[in-house]
Amino acid sequence: MISVTGGKGGTGKSTVAVNLAIELARRGKLVLADLDVEDPNDHILLNVELQNEEPVNIMLPFVKYEACIKCGACAEVCDTGAMLLSPDKVPYVIPRLCSGCRACYFVCPTKAIVEGKRTIGYTYETPVNVDDVNFTLVTGMLREGEEHTPPAVLQAKRRALSVEADVYLVDTSAGTSNSVASSLDGSKLVLAVTEPTPLGLHDLALILELAKEMGLEVWVVMNRSGLGPEDRHERVVKEYGYEIVARIPYSRRVVDSYVKGVPLVISYPDSEEAFKLKELADRVWEVLS
Ligand code: SF4
Ligand code: SF4
Repeated sequence: MISVTGGKGGTGKSTVAVNLAIELARRGKLVLADLDVEDPNDHILLNVELQNEEPVNIMLPFVKYEACIKCGACAEVCDTGAMLLSPDKVPYVIPRLCSGCRACYFVCPTKAIVEGKRTIGYTYETPVNVDDVNFTLVTGMLREGEEHTPPAVLQAKRRALSVEADVYLVDTSAGTSNSVASSLDGSKLVLAVTEPTPLGLHDLALILELAKEMGLEVWVVMNRSGLGPEDRHERVVKEYGYEIVARIPYSRRVVDSYVKGVPLVISYPDSEEAFKLKELADRVWEVLS
């Protein structure tokens, strides 16, 4: 399993993931897992309609009021503020805040809490065929207004890994949250996408720190190379003991391919940017074989 991640949104992480997916799928059977569940966009970049929807359900507690002795233990144990007590100590649930952790269910002394369920999002399994290249795209997507990303990430990852393939390419969400950590978990190699800006550098350091803590091998990919100075990025990457393995030049063609909904390695196959992405795919493939 290979992951593509980036400390901040907007570095072109998904563009790199999608183009790499196409190039790797030319070499073997591939599953691309879009685990950016709050804002999945690999299907948009690939111009495909999501298919084979399955719900992501989490436990939602219900209170059997006839069995409740108003001890307050359920509200005390709930760390998301989803279980509250009315002034006369009657418990009630705010579903949107509930993470489905079941702590209230286990702590209730009278079994007054029963398990219901709530759909917080969906996973999809979509066959992709672009430029005679076939692979499977698995997507996790939270429902609007939902905040509990980990169950959707884990379910989408599980679904992706259940599809038989030679290579699993994971596109994580931006940042260094628990969800990003669970997306990265088990990766043979992490591609950390950054850009030559101060914010890019700041967030790159955070993702390198996380990867280091998790004991993961990291290759840094400098996207939009040429846009600004890269010497400080180089220093930071070196300090962590990693390497910038690819520099994808800043180019109008990347924006054009985005607007057209045709990935760069297909819309501009002979461009320098496509060449760099193909070269990166070759190196990744070597690591996998
Ligand atoms: S399941 Fe967990 S988060 Fe939901 S109400 Fe119970 S304790 Fe709170
Ligand atoms: S823990 Fe059970 S008995 Fe106590 S207030 Fe909550 S629902 Fe009622």
